[in-house]
Amino acid sequence: MPKTAKTATAPAAAPRPRKPKTPKAPALPVTTRFGVSQKKIGRRLDYFLIGPDDVEAMKEIHAIIDPMSESIVEAFYAHIGSFNQLTRIIKSNSTVVALKKTLTRFVTEIGVDMDTMEYAEKRLQVGLVHCKIGLKPRWYLGAYAHLEYMLHEILSDVCGQDIERYKRLSASLRKVMMFDVSLGIDSYHLDTIGALETSLAKTKKNEEELRRTARLDALTGVMNRRSMSHALSKELERSRRYNHPLALAFIDLDLFKNINDTHGHIFGDRVIKEACRVMRETIRMPDLLGRWGGEEFVIGLVECPREDAIMICERLRRAVAANIIQKRLTGVFVQITVSVGLHIPGPGEDVRTALRHADRALYAAKKAGRNRVVVYEPGLDQ
Ligand code: GH3
Ligand code: MG
Ligand code: MG
Repeated sequence: MPKTAKTATAPAAAPRPRKPKTPKAPALPVTTRFGVSQKKIGRRLDYFLIGPDDVEAMKEIHAIIDPMSESIVEAFYAHIGSFNQLTRIIKSNSTVVALKKTLTRFVTEIGVDMDTMEYAEKRLQVGLVHCKIGLKPRWYLGAYAHLEYMLHEILSDVCGQDIERYKRLSASLRKVMMFDVSLGIDSYHLDTIGALETSLAKTKKNEEELRRTARLDALTGVMNRRSMSHALSKELERSRRYNHPLALAFIDLDLFKNINDTHGHIFGDRVIKEACRVMRETIRMPDLLGRWGGEEFVIGLVECPREDAIMICERLRRAVAANIIQKRLTGVFVQITVSVGLHIPGPGEDVRTALRHADRALYAAKKAGRNRVVVYEPGLDQ
């Protein structure tokens, strides 16, 4: 069969465009995070009594230990390998190889340019890495002490009978290694403080959230009975102090039991929520609204004289009645009305008495046929 022209193949699916990665902010140097400055490094060196003589001594020490650094590291690992507190954090052989390499570099860098920010950065990093992998500070310090012990042994061997030289070199090594380990321990300390601060901030946020939810009604998001009662007491006191009228109203959904019986409790909940939303949108910002119980609400109309309060309650009653709720599944329309008992507390009247009066007015509204506003008057008590 003669070769035909290339058969058309399905075009390769175009590679899906990759979501561009949001670039990570570069990590701040540890020295910056922990507030280590050049000046502070200088002060720390002074504190450890490290001076030019020690810099010279360290050069001499490195001439001795650097050529042996690999065997020092091997011996070091042979020691720590017998402690499972240390080995259990070392996950694999490749980690050991990497760690040995790092430690070899670490040994050859002890005290070299120790007055620089770069040196502090490296030493803080070492501490931080060990802290992050969960090595307890005592094991970190112990490993450090062992390394120092090994180095002193080498110096002692090399200096032999030259006791003065050994004393001079080992004194410098001691100071420098103490300075070194102090940076590592700073990392542990500052990292722990940072973690504590973060956890404290989280706890505070949770506490605020808890306090907020404890004040609010879970279904409607308005104040619950306890916080509403508290808010009303405060507002009533304020209204007395500034001689402003405060109007109180008890609102109860009419024949709500029928809604539950006909459409179920879950839809009933939705009706309560909707009615509450309408009420919240009808009143003004400083006014108070709380769910008193099942399908009962209380409002506090701030700085509101009697005539205005009647007008607002009427508006609220009409708004709830006009809000037709449609059942999602069946499409049935449901309408709800409310009865309102309004009362403007007199001087010296406490919240409980005021609410009792508003409740009396509500009862009268129900008796008179529901879907209406009734203002309390003393005769209603009978
Ligand atoms: P009235 O006009 O006299 O107030 O009649 P009503 O049916 O509204 O009054 P009743 O007190 O007899 O019934 C109130 C109903 O509200 C009874 C109760 O099961 C229901 N209810 C109370 N709390 C909740 C709630 O959180 N969710 C739902 N879905 N129903 C509730
Ligand atoms: Mg009711
Ligand atoms: Mg009721």
